[in-house]
Amino acid sequence: MVKTKTIFTCQNCGYQSPKWLGKCPDCNSWNSFVEEDYTAPCAKSKERKALYKDEPVLLKDVEIKEAGRLKTGLGELDRVLGGGIVAGSVV
Ligand SMILES: [Zn+2]
Repeated sequence: MVKTKTIFTCQNCGYQSPKWLGKCPDCNSWNSFVEEDYTAPCAKSKERKALYKDEPVLLKDVEIKEAGRLKTGLGELDRVLGGGIVAGSVV
């Protein structure tokens, strides 16, 4: 069973409050709050997926982008670093 919550929304400006308010603190209008059903943004997995676009990815599907490497001119150092220094990295 899904527990439904209610929230009070100002019909004038859209300000929301968990309690009924006589005067809206945002737009100062009186008696503008109406009780509405409230569903938490993360209540359903479909809505959660819409919120977080980055989803887990299998390791085999991870894209490996080859970073540009800066050759030092020292053959052994370039070999140890995997082809040179990666731009923006510290070694
Ligand atoms: Zn308001």
